[in-house]
Amino acid sequence: MSAPEASAPSPATLISTLLQTVEDHIIPLTQSGVASGSKLFGAAILRKGTLEPLTVATNNERVSPLLHGEINCIQQFFTTTFPDTATRPDPRAECIFLATHEPCSLCLSGIAWSGFKEVYYLFTYEDSRDLFSIPYDIEILEEVFRVRSVCGQESDGQLAERALYNRTNKFFKASSFKDVVGERGDDQEREKLLKEIERVKARYDGLSEVYQAGKKEGAVSSSVWK
Ligand SMILES: [Zn+2]
Repeated sequence: MSAPEASAPSPATLISTLLQTVEDHIIPLTQSGVASGSKLFGAAILRKGTLEPLTVATNNERVSPLLHGEINCIQQFFTTTFPDTATRPDPRAECIFLATHEPCSLCLSGIAWSGFKEVYYLFTYEDSRDLFSIPYDIEILEEVFRVRSVCGQESDGQLAERALYNRTNKFFKASSFKDVVGERGDDQEREKLLKEIERVKARYDGLSEVYQAGKKEGAVSSSVWK
């Protein structure tokens, strides 16, 4: 039997708490990760009712190219934080998944397979490509998964216009922080939250510089796609 669904926090409380989780828990871990050659992607699993962070992890591609922040976080949630199935919060009803960057195809599958239904991310794929020089989330979805329609005569333009994946699907709903704030009716509150989002995003500028500099200097990493 699955646990009853926890009540949802207000969008303002949700976004403020997710931003605080990024600043207080994920960024400090990211600082040591990028300094040792790993990418700056991080994740956290929070308890849905209280928004308390249960597991926090960042990318560890120094060890394995599959240890993306989200996958590392999921692995730790199941094996280290809650190894006992009896006490583990139900990912479907009692957890929220936070990713600093919109999850790649590997991590989207990991999230679906683990049962997390509510996913929020700070940076979009376009941000990862344009602000962080990491284009592979988009490229893998386009090159590996985007199948051209065989019956219709789909043009290159039509193909390019298709969404890269279903943000709302049977397994989860993925929303950017901005999407959530955009739904707010109160203009003043929306402006305040959007400013907060930009302020926390800006904290990644320096982290990106450290990662890019490490790449040039040949930092140790198991990743092929840097
Ligand atoms: Zn990933």
